[in-house]
Amino acid sequence: MLGQKFDANALYNRIVHYYIDKKSYSKEKANAIAQTIVAREMQRRICKNMKCKHSMDDHVRAQETCLVLDCNCRHFVR
Ligand SMILES: [Zn+2]
Ligand SMILES: [Zn+2]
Repeated sequence: MLGQKFDANALYNRIVHYYIDKKSYSKEKANAIAQTIVAREMQRRICKNMKCKHSMDDHVRAQETCLVLDCNCRHFVR
């Protein structure tokens, strides 16, 4: 997983399949759970620097300088 770009859709689909196939949840319930988990995961991957707010993927090695043009963030804030 390290160094790989975060794919929200892939994660979403994996969670839905997991709950439907392995836990026998209804499609609606599995979708609701996937939405909650993916939203939390996205939030976790956003820089908390108010002037940045870019994703972890925009930061060098997910924690150093932000690569977005005209953003001065130098360190990913969790
Ligand atoms: Zn930034
Ligand atoms: Zn940042």
